[in-house]
Amino acid sequence: MDLHHDYIAVPEVFWSFETGKPISHCKLCDCDLMEPGTNYLIEKAFKNGETIFEHALCLSCYTESHQSMSEDSREKIRDYFAEHVNMDERQNIFMEQYGTEHEKWIDHCMVKGFPVREIEEYQLYGFCIDKDLVFSGAPYVLCGDVIEEIMELLSAETLGTMNALSQKLFGVDAPHDLLMF
Ligand SMILES: [Zn+2]
Repeated sequence: MDLHHDYIAVPEVFWSFETGKPISHCKLCDCDLMEPGTNYLIEKAFKNGETIFEHALCLSCYTESHQSMSEDSREKIRDYFAEHVNMDERQNIFMEQYGTEHEKWIDHCMVKGFPVREIEEYQLYGFCIDKDLVFSGAPYVLCGDVIEEIMELLSAETLGTMNALSQKLFGVDAPHDLLMF
């Protein structure tokens, strides 16, 4: 990865709905994400304009979760994205057109192109390093249709693993459409 990232302070849309502040700890291992140089991923799901779940995972918890999916499922997810999005091209075009104006990166579904304001359900993803949001493929939004299409590609085994992880993250109110990319 290029070391000279473009970045901005984590914008409010990525902050915790619960606390009204930036998400400061990993949802799984509780490590301090604000520790300088800490890489992590934020995922937030919205329905009709409201946050329905949110979490941040440090890089090692994220990697571990991702690797708990079956090899076959991981390959299918990779193929799905390779088929629908050219991440490198998107990165270059957006960087040139929008720079670090994050709103522009997340106002349409990355795969289907639907404007977010017209989508009932969507999930927002961002990669961060301590206090900053990094522009490196992310940030992006996936609409509910895309999440559904990807879920359909996954093996029963992987869906089971994702459900177990979701339980661990969210307890009784665990969402069934948690995805780790
Ligand atoms: Zn962690």
